[in-house]
Amino acid sequence: MNIHRPQTLEVGFRDSVNIMVDHAMSTLTLPEGMAENIRICNATYTVRFGVRLRGHFHTFTGYRAVHSDHMEPVKGGIRFATAVDQDEVEALAALMTYKCALVEVPFGGAKGGLCIDPNEWTEDELEKITRRFAYELIKRDLIHPSQNVPAPDMGTGEREMAWIADEYRRMNTIDINARGCVTGKPLFAGGIAGRVEATGRGIQYALREFFRHQEDVKSAHLEGNLEGKRIVIQGLGNVGYHAALFLSEEDGALITTVIERDGAVSNNKGLDIQALKDHITETGGVKGFSGGTFAEDGAAALENECDILIPAAMEGAINLSNAAQIKAPLIIEAANGPVTAGADEILRQKDCIIIPDLYANAGGVTVSYFEWVKNLSHIRFGRLQRRQEEMRQTSLLSAVEDITGRFFNDSFKTSYMQGASEVDLVRSGLDDTMRHAYQTTREVWRTEKNCPDLRTAAYIVAIKRISAAYSGLNL
Ligand code: GLU
Repeated sequence: MNIHRPQTLEVGFRDSVNIMVDHAMSTLTLPEGMAENIRICNATYTVRFGVRLRGHFHTFTGYRAVHSDHMEPVKGGIRFATAVDQDEVEALAALMTYKCALVEVPFGGAKGGLCIDPNEWTEDELEKITRRFAYELIKRDLIHPSQNVPAPDMGTGEREMAWIADEYRRMNTIDINARGCVTGKPLFAGGIAGRVEATGRGIQYALREFFRHQEDVKSAHLEGNLEGKRIVIQGLGNVGYHAALFLSEEDGALITTVIERDGAVSNNKGLDIQALKDHITETGGVKGFSGGTFAEDGAAALENECDILIPAAMEGAINLSNAAQIKAPLIIEAANGPVTAGADEILRQKDCIIIPDLYANAGGVTVSYFEWVKNLSHIRFGRLQRRQEEMRQTSLLSAVEDITGRFFNDSFKTSYMQGASEVDLVRSGLDDTMRHAYQTTREVWRTEKNCPDLRTAAYIVAIKRISAAYSGLNL
């Protein structure tokens, strides 16, 4: 992607997160030593292992970092990418701690990574590598339903999670909760409806909630709702694709630019996201897409005129070298850490409003939480009550029709009578989580002295809760 980590990355990723955390901590009175206790990464396990492939041994390096185990299990994805290193995994684990606290998901923060380019290996080879990595983590309880629960992240998805779950089950044949050892599994392996698109759906719900607060919309020099808003999105992977699809198809927003590995494609009237995604799947890039104009310099397209910028690719995409040129008045961080601490400062001075990663992309872990609860309860959500609900609604409608002698139209009847399916309940729980977390955050932003932005506010909310958990208090 034209979004390599810049050479001028002012500080490393972990330090960048810590600078933001420190801003929030400086506004709080925490018990002596608590700030350091929260900030540090508790443990990072590094594993190097060889797998015999294509006739000889290949050595791989992987990590699992536990940032904070004030609550267990600890939670966070496993990333397969060549940029994976200890600094990155620890930064991402820290973000998981704050994210879970902010959206009241009862987990500590963790993250894993394997330094690998998944495109270099066949499916069979990847399965061998993934299972071996999982084995190394499982035997040390670094994957465990009550201690440490991974999920998908960049370069991994349902397929890898199914392999991990299966490996855990083979090694723990009598663990009745084995399926809860990892989330983001396919449905057949104990997954939950709505998990694949959850992070993208969360971005949509976060933006809808933002636009319900006109005071906040005004602060971003915008007005109205999402209808007709011009959006530039970087990265059409799982998160970016679903966010772009839902925002364009359901909210009337115009995705005017998509930035991918080989460049950017733009259309002022709005890109057809499904057609573009199909094109990318077929050709590997956005070049040659007939529904827009191609530009080779993807990074420059981050600076395009728009109403909303959605970085949904790598950390550090908006940094000291380009922050001053960003024109979007509103940024929503779909990726983890896409704006460096230095860039954050520049953007704040420009009056740009940033909906921060720890809130914006929390939809994934929220639905992971629902999946884990489903696994522990061994029953699909809605299975007990759905038909009972339908019966009650149906009899209510019939009674009203009998009493009044008038009839409801069929489409109203169908939608009203339907009991909630698993995906309906997942969406409802996700929407509620995103609304509630935003309201709590904006309240702090608007009322606390010395709280300059939503990011600091989100960290304040999270840190207060983590501090209370460490102190054994209940907030
Ligand atoms: N990898 C995702 C994230 O960064 C999801 C983590 C999870 O579901 O545990 O939030």
